[in-house]
Formats: sequence, structure tokens, C-alpha cells
Amino acid sequence: MTNEQLEVARELAACARSLFQRGYSFGTSGNVSARAGDIILVSPTNSSFEDLQEYSFSEVTLDGTRREGPVPSKEVHFHLALYAARPDAMAVVHLHSTYATAVSCLPANGGEILPVYTPYFAMRIPCLPVVPYLPPGHPDLAGHVRAAAERSPAILLKNHGPVTAGRTIREASALAEELEEQSRLYFLLGERGETLSAEQIAELRKRSAR
Ligand SMILES: [Zn+2]
Repeated sequence: MTNEQLEVARELAACARSLFQRGYSFGTSGNVSARAGDIILVSPTNSSFEDLQEYSFSEVTLDGTRREGPVPSKEVHFHLALYAARPDAMAVVHLHSTYATAVSCLPANGGEILPVYTPYFAMRIPCLPVVPYLPPGHPDLAGHVRAAAERSPAILLKNHGPVTAGRTIREASALAEELEEQSRLYFLLGERGETLSAEQIAELRKRSAR
């Protein structure tokens, strides 16, 4: 590994361990990746965020060719789809975190799947596309993820969980955490929640786009 890759790997491992320690990942659920030049460092298959260290990662190219290290997560293909859709993405976080995954199991009713309750969620996430359910590793999944990721850095895989991209590892992680907490609010509030109005959301998104 180059020094640049090692530095990225160190930060990615620390981020994954932090997500595990704070309950956003459990068992061997979820996977993370980060870009170092033309190489993507990906957590290996059947690994736990708890155990990731700087030398744990698989190294793959942007077209999915394995270069070094252990066998990557079988979900690596949708990570690569996010990098393809979002040229500024430097990291991708995928969780099976409980509340966001619960939202991914709700029936699609045509509108936004998750109501917007708070300004920062509205500012950080322009919309929350839901990718149709396909079994993990299905070859068509990457195409659907790519189309969704062109619209938003945060997406939900139907009946599976959230995926977020960021310009830094910290940003990708923060977005996944924000999505989990907004999902938790939704279930806490139930029918009692008052959402921001369409006008308030539009104003926030206009300001954050400046
Ligand atoms: Zn998954």
C-alpha cells in the first residue's frame, strides 16, 4: 500500500469501529469503502466493523478488479456504482442500521418514504430514492443504485438498508448516522409528528445548494 492508501485505510477502519461501538453496525452487518487515487479500499466479506484495522481492506479498481488483500464484500458492486454516479465521492457507508432499514421495509406510496422533520436532514439529503429490492450481489443492483445515486448521496435499498456517499469518510458516515436518527424520529413520532412544509424544505434546500 502507498502512504496515501495507508492513511485512508487507517481513517476508514477507525470510522467503522466507531460506527460499531455506537450501535450503527452489529455482527458482520454493513460494509464501508473509501477511495485512494484509483483504488477503492473495501471491507472484506464476512468482516465485522469491530475488527477492521488499517491492513484489513480489500483493494479493488474502479471497474471492480481485485488487486490485493482479502476477498471484498459481495456488496462491493453497489459501492462502485456510487463512485461512478458521484465523481466527488471519496467514501461509501452501507449499514443495516435498525430504523433506516425499517423505513426501507415500508410500502412505497409514491411520495417521499421518510418525512422531513428537521432542517439539517433537509439540507444534507436532497431526496431519498429507494432502490427496488434485489437479492444481495444481484447483477442488476448496481445499475439501479447508480441511477438513484445520481439524484442523492443517500439512498435506501428496499428491504435491506441505507447507503450513503461523502466527499470524505466522515461525511459519508455522518450522512448514514443522520439518516438513521431521522428514521428513529419517524418511528418515535408515529402519526403525531409535524413535518416541515414543502415550502420550508424547498427554502432549506435552496440555501444549502448555494
Ligand atoms: Zn447489506
